[in-house]
Amino acid sequence: FQSKPDSRRHFLHIPGPSNVPDRVLRAMDNPTMDHRGPDFGAMGKQLLAKVRKVFQTEGPVVIYPASGTGAWEAALVNTLSPGDRVLMCETGWFAHLWNEMAERLSIQADFIKTDWRRGADVEQIAERLAADKGHAIKAVCVVHNETSTGCTSRIDEVRKAIDDAGHPALLLVDTISSLGSMDYRHDEWGVDVTVSGSQKGLMLPPGLSFNAISAKAIKASETAKLTRSFWDWKPMLAANATGYFPYTPATNMLYALDTALDMLLEEGLQNVFARHDQVAEATRRCVRHWGFETQCQDPRHFSSVLTAVRLPEGHSANALRATILEKFNMSLGNGLGQLNDKVFRIGHLGDISELQLVGALAGVEMGLRAAGIPHKAGGVQVAMEYLGGNA
Ligand code: PLP
Repeated sequence: FQSKPDSRRHFLHIPGPSNVPDRVLRAMDNPTMDHRGPDFGAMGKQLLAKVRKVFQTEGPVVIYPASGTGAWEAALVNTLSPGDRVLMCETGWFAHLWNEMAERLSIQADFIKTDWRRGADVEQIAERLAADKGHAIKAVCVVHNETSTGCTSRIDEVRKAIDDAGHPALLLVDTISSLGSMDYRHDEWGVDVTVSGSQKGLMLPPGLSFNAISAKAIKASETAKLTRSFWDWKPMLAANATGYFPYTPATNMLYALDTALDMLLEEGLQNVFARHDQVAEATRRCVRHWGFETQCQDPRHFSSVLTAVRLPEGHSANALRATILEKFNMSLGNGLGQLNDKVFRIGHLGDISELQLVGALAGVEMGLRAAGIPHKAGGVQVAMEYLGGNA
């Protein structure tokens, strides 16, 4: 597929899929090997050990040739039974979709609402768990980085709320857009299933997704009764023990994953997170200077992966994005669900540098002017001052 002829480099600034580094693209461009042959097992074993580091876990991580939605389903069907109750937290569009999926799978989800301007409401989670004396709630499901709003949930605080209530519910967390860009600790935060995907912080194309699994989740899977076949952890974990997969893996995507993990680990995860924190802060300062609000209102929940920007009443975020695409060949994220046309989202995740961010912000500022949206010029300058250490 060839997009409209345009020899300018496309600026991909949606909050995932993110830009794939050349080194990762080159890794994919190797001959596909025999996935039952001896070389594969050695590679698989090494890769399955390495991938744990990015989840900050010592436990198993299974890899599916699927988008993130598949790994959502895997987390639910491996741990729950028909009619089970779960707590879901409506942080935005993706939490809404996960909740809908749970209902379609005949799970009874209690949906804790938010105004889509902050992360999960930990106090309400604590109250619901404290009220559940009979321990009917089997799992608490939270989206770590809500990609539709740019709000992050405090998983450490959710864990504490579950512990303080003395409640045995499993903790299932979606890190599809945060893993590899924001600090995330599967073991330390006592998460039972971490769901993730390849196309965001991991700097890979779409196509792989993950479940990191605690010992408690594996135990739950032994009695969970939801129907599962492709998603079943059991044959996957059995084959993974020797570095293989129960069916044909996405071999070239695994080469890419191996290289992307090397890149993240060579830079050092803490440095990767700090780089994202910095570009996110620069973006917010720029947005504030323009005179706009970020969708996320709580500074403790600001995302380092993306910034969702609210336009003033009467201005169309979709028209602005179309102008920017047309004039400057840059893609920005659209508003999802109730935020359609009200916000645009600037992705600053994965393979992102200071200069790339300044370029993206310049594209937005020029677009605001071209689209006739009132704003205070000079936001990019503010971002540069901050990134240059002069703020
Ligand atoms: N959860 C979050 C937080 C996401 O950002 C996305 C995709 O953007 C999904 C789930 C769905 O993943 P996928 O589109 O890879 O199926």
